[in-house]
Amino acid sequence: MTMIQKTAKSNKQNAMAGLLRNFMHLVFPPVCAVCRERLDFRSEQSFCRQCAGSIIYLKKPLCRTCGMELIGEEDRNFLCGECLRSPPTYALARSLVRYQAGVRQLVQKLKYGRDTSVSGGISAIIDAADLTEFTDCRWILPVPLYRQRHRQRGLNQATILAGLFFPEKKQNIRPDWLYRKYNTTPQTTLSGFERRNNLAGAFAVRSDNGLQNAKVCLVDDVYTTGTTVRECAATLIVAGVCEVKVLTLARVAVPQRGRNR
Ligand SMILES: [Zn+2]
Ligand SMILES: [Zn+2]
Repeated sequence: MTMIQKTAKSNKQNAMAGLLRNFMHLVFPPVCAVCRERLDFRSEQSFCRQCAGSIIYLKKPLCRTCGMELIGEEDRNFLCGECLRSPPTYALARSLVRYQAGVRQLVQKLKYGRDTSVSGGISAIIDAADLTEFTDCRWILPVPLYRQRHRQRGLNQATILAGLFFPEKKQNIRPDWLYRKYNTTPQTTLSGFERRNNLAGAFAVRSDNGLQNAKVCLVDDVYTTGTTVRECAATLIVAGVCEVKVLTLARVAVPQRGRNR
């Protein structure tokens, strides 16, 4: 088949796919993944204009370790105050968007409402992001819930997110290698000191795993103070992991001034 014939064929396939999508959208009109407002039936977007405008991607300059947004000129050696005071146990953490407005609603629907229909909206956020810093991770480990809470909720949002972040590496997602040994008080109700104390020794790894000398990516929904992922990373390093990178969908903290070290 010549190049021209191939192009003509793929143009035809694209046109057919577009027609089929329009037809499906006529039968099942597309709605905004956040507010469920009806979208134009020809729309290829996941969000209405207002909700799309409320989704804010984290922009450089970032803290080179924890990924916090910093204020000032771009400098790839920047560290935030927290990473300077207390260097994290992980090698690098990155979040895609700020935890506010539409993003907060998507996460809450997934987490508390068991509403996996928001997956399309979350995938749309992920598709527009650059995840090349995580391509060298051998295993993907969702931050675990305590098994009782997992049963109550019916799903672990971190495991669902891991599948959305890495659709090509589903066989490398290991939701049971890292687990919570006991139930802990929800972190959101505690102060910084209490958060660290609350989680000390809370995680463990299963003995039959491939974590020895491996690089892993730890996945969670929201990065708040980083206490949870620091504790998970410390457990993994003790278990023989050589490098932990952390990927979360959203980040709570507001930008702060960085320091060059
Ligand atoms: Zn909307
Ligand atoms: Zn930092």
